[in-house]
Formats: sequence, C-alpha cells, structure tokens
Amino acid sequence: MKKKIFPLSISLVLSISIFLSGCGTKEPKLLSHVDTAMGTVVVQQLYVEEAAGETLKAPDDAILEQISALESERLSWRLETSELNHINQQIKEGEEILLSPQMEAVLTDCLDVSRNSGGAFDITIGEVTRLWNIDSRAGGTEESAEYDLPAEEQITEALANSGWEKLSIKDHRLLVSADMSLDLGAVGKGIALTEILSYLQEQEQVVGAVISVGGSVLTYGEKPDGTSWKVGIVNPLNPGGMIGTLSLQGQWCVSTSGDYERYVEMDGVRYHHIMDPMTGYPADSGVKSVTILTKDGFLSDALSTACFVLGEEVGMQLAESYGAEALFVDGQGRIAMTEGMKPYFHLSNEGK
Ligand code: AMP
Ligand code: MG
Repeated sequence: MKKKIFPLSISLVLSISIFLSGCGTKEPKLLSHVDTAMGTVVVQQLYVEEAAGETLKAPDDAILEQISALESERLSWRLETSELNHINQQIKEGEEILLSPQMEAVLTDCLDVSRNSGGAFDITIGEVTRLWNIDSRAGGTEESAEYDLPAEEQITEALANSGWEKLSIKDHRLLVSADMSLDLGAVGKGIALTEILSYLQEQEQVVGAVISVGGSVLTYGEKPDGTSWKVGIVNPLNPGGMIGTLSLQGQWCVSTSGDYERYVEMDGVRYHHIMDPMTGYPADSGVKSVTILTKDGFLSDALSTACFVLGEEVGMQLAESYGAEALFVDGQGRIAMTEGMKPYFHLSNEGK
C-alpha cells in the first residue's frame, strides 16, 4: 500500500448557523440546530422540503430525542436506566445476562473489531477508564490541579479483570469470566449516526443533512445547490483551527479520535481518554488524531479509536481491511492517509 506524508497540521470545525427560510414554498429550507446530548455537542443542518400548506415537522427535535434515548436506554454506563448499566450490575452480581437484539448486535460487532485489531479496541476496559476518569473532562487543563493519577497497582488490578477474550455471546446471553465493566464510549456516537441515518431514510421531506455528534459526522442526501458536504478535520495541535476538510457527496460517516478531546495535563504530560488495553495507560502510538471515512457509523467510530491505539502503520492496515479510509496526524503535524482518502481531502491554509 502506497501512502504519502504531507508536512502540516489539522482541525475540524462545524459551522453553527441559524434557521434560514427558503424563498419559494417548494424550496428546501435549511434547518439548523445546536444542542447537547450524549455528553457532547450535536450540530444538525437539515434541508427540509415543505409541501404547500403542510406544517413543517421538527426532524431536528426528533433526532435529538433519538440520541438522548439511545444514551439513557442503552449505552450509558453512568445512567441507571440503561441496558449497559444493567449489564455491568449483572456482571458484578454474577447473574445471567440476556441481551436485547440491538445490544447483542453491538457487542458482536465490538468483539469483531477487538479480534481484528489485536485487542487495541476493547470495550472491557471499563474499570480502567473509570480509574482514570478522564472521559468526564471536556478539553483540558482547568481541572488538572485537582487530578490524582491512578496508582500503578490499581491499574494492574483493573487490567487483570479486563480483556475481550473473557467475553462471549451464546444463545442471546453474554458470558463473562471476570469482574469487569463494559464501556461503549468508543462507539456510542457512531451508533447514534447509524440510527439517525435509518430515521432520515424514512423522512421523505428531508432531502439532505449533515449531523455531527461530537467527533462523529453523518452526511446524507444532497445539498439543494448540488455542492459537496464539507466536513472539517480539527488540527490536533491547535484544536481551534482546521487542518483540512473532506468534500463528500451523499451518505458518509466521518469519525475522529484525538488526544485533544478529553485530557488532563500533569507536569507537562498529557493524559488523554483513549487507553491502550495492553498497558492500562493512555495510548502512546505517536499519533495525535485519526479520522476514519466510511459508510457505517459504528465502524467509523470503532476504527478511529482502534487506529489511534495502533498508530499509523498497523492502523492503516486495519482500516483498509474494513474497506475504510483513514487519515493520521502525528505530533509534528504530519499527515498520512490511505490512497482512497486522497480524493476527498483538501488541505486548509493552516495546514500549508
Ligand atoms: P473515541 O473518542 O471514540 O476514540 O472514544 C474514546 C472513549 O472510548 C473513551 O472515553 C472510553 O470511554 C472508551 N475507550 C478508551 N480506550 C478504549 C479502547 N482502547 N477500546 C475501546 N474503548 C476505549
Ligand atoms: Mg471512537
């Protein structure tokens, strides 16, 4: 596989816009909505056709509700109402765990990515992520003064109870052979995109949309003026700016994992939220961010996390084995990407 390295730096920024009315009654209207759900910012831009005399429904509200329900009913490890929280309780109490069809599908897909990434992606590291407790911190350094690093022995103990091989699924039941906690933080936003896509496909009045849930972005349909969707890629060395954009037509999912998203800094060392399941410490593979481009939301999110842990060389192989495109930025701002990513990527001035 040939890959090219460009000297530069990156960033993703989603424009926040206001509701704009179309002039004619049949012209699609741009409906823009910014809110929070799943502990992150959700930005929606929907092009909605309004038939004469028909009141505009509110697909943006429906999408936000869908994301919140996904978190509270299924994926959150914190909220007691969620299936994942129940599963973690049942693991602690050694009870039989019967999975919903949706959860069975998610866990099966997660185990597949774990196997193919050699364990770099591992949802059984919940005890490790809890110990570090970094995912509750958006961005950076403010609270670092109050932060206590976990002790080596605690990490060793938490790691001993983790491991995707200790998890299996049989007859719709989850079999677990250790006192572990599951964490679906690496795939929640991608799963949300997959579900939003199904919803949009049922909404005839939505002709095009770009929706971001944190670092995961869905593009859908077409823009009324025929131009491409533009998805910015954050510069991990300067997260206020962009290193470039992806120009996309039709339906795509783009997920970025980066060490700038959630972290604490202590004595000049950045401890971020993406863990290396081999060590129990934040992954240190030399990359600052990884962006994955693929059609499927779950896959884009799972692979961005896995590739961040694996680093550029092995990460590219993993992405390509799933037919996904990948773009890596390292600590010097150098960009490396799969051949298939190149036609979509445009360097921003900041990256030049
Ligand atoms: P992302 O930002 O999509 O890369 O996901 C990071 C989140 O996934 C963290 O906040 C953890 O909840 C969880 N996580 C961290 N490291 C891993 C890993 N190696 N495999 C799976 N999940 C992880
Ligand atoms: Mg992810």
